[in-house]
Amino acid sequence: MRAASAMIAQAVEEYAAAAVWALPDDDLVDALDELHVLQQRLAAVNLALVREVDGRGLAVAQGASSTAVWLRGRMRMSIGAARRLVELAAAIDAGPAVVRDGLATGALTLEQAQVVTQAVAALPAEVGPAVVDKAAATLVGYAGEYEPLALRRLGERILQVVAPDVAEQVEAAALGRAEQRADRDRFLTLSDAGDGAVRLSGRLGAEAAAVVRAALEPLCRPLPGDTRTPGQRRADALTDICRLALATTELPDQGGEPPQVVVTVDYDLLTRQLGPGLLDTGQNLSPQTVRRLACDARVLPAVLDGAGQPLDLGRQRRLVTGALRRALVLRDRGCTFPACDRPAKWCHGHHIEPWADGGPTCLSNVVLVCGFHHRLLHHGGWTVHIAPDGRPSFTPPTWVDPTQRPRRNQYWQRQ
Ligand SMILES: [Zn+2]
Ligand SMILES: [Zn+2]
Repeated sequence: MRAASAMIAQAVEEYAAAAVWALPDDDLVDALDELHVLQQRLAAVNLALVREVDGRGLAVAQGASSTAVWLRGRMRMSIGAARRLVELAAAIDAGPAVVRDGLATGALTLEQAQVVTQAVAALPAEVGPAVVDKAAATLVGYAGEYEPLALRRLGERILQVVAPDVAEQVEAAALGRAEQRADRDRFLTLSDAGDGAVRLSGRLGAEAAAVVRAALEPLCRPLPGDTRTPGQRRADALTDICRLALATTELPDQGGEPPQVVVTVDYDLLTRQLGPGLLDTGQNLSPQTVRRLACDARVLPAVLDGAGQPLDLGRQRRLVTGALRRALVLRDRGCTFPACDRPAKWCHGHHIEPWADGGPTCLSNVVLVCGFHHRLLHHGGWTVHIAPDGRPSFTPPTWVDPTQRPRRNQYWQRQ
């Protein structure tokens, strides 16, 4: 080995000492070609040596934590380059012989060898060793013509070339496995973030995600006056869908009761606009939110008296149901907020004089609004009243319109 490296060193010296400036063009290009091939072949030898060092565990025996760390110190390489070298040496050692031979003869560059090895390793196990060898040989053949990036693209489709009859089956099987994995890994968690928020995270298979998307998308469109981000709109859409589901009678019972959101609140504090509310999940709600929820037909406030006894489960007095809801839908048809086109199905009955302040649940005190505009009414400075012609009329806050000119929903009038 010593003699061999001495000869290589001598050859390099010859190249280095040559009067490059004096070479004719053809000789110059030839020298470059020759040297390039030698470089690749030397790199192949280098890889084999690295593989052997790694295989023997020499680095660890000499006190380094890994071969890459040992190379970093000894060869003054970056740790990234050292790791890539060790990995490539292992991959080429384990890969098809045709790649090792190609490197050894200079038919493949180091980069191309890496691409071919990766492409072959990515073939699914069920194609069998004969197809793997054929794929490797075909790609090594392409290497005479294509640079690494083009070779990588050819590698991605190599199965169609070398085994078109099985490619379709293999792809279908791979897709099936991916689907199974996605289905197995599905989950949804709701975790208390501890700051009044709940973090929602999850993973769905493609089919389930398509169902969720189809349900969310129509509700994600921006509404008139909408300043919500797309993320906020999606979050609201999810809430709206769950609200609709709660409003149907088709969800399974919980302890004999239809499932519903319960907010517990002290009656005196509620009427004085002071009381925080307690959700049955144990989280607190601000007084303003409690008052909006008390207005919302689909949330059940359990109102406590001074002794903490349930005073009124609110059902009779508060909910916009039955004949009243039908009359309300007949009058309003959908969300009554100016320019909103969300239909009645997605709307709540908003009490003009708050229910918590003794406002009656009757047609003259209730308007239909969607969840987004309901929030705007309670927290966004807008107010609503029933005009003399019996239709809802909205007054914007001064920061929206300094003249506070009343506005109406024309969308449902024109329908
Ligand atoms: Zn309301
Ligand atoms: Zn609306």
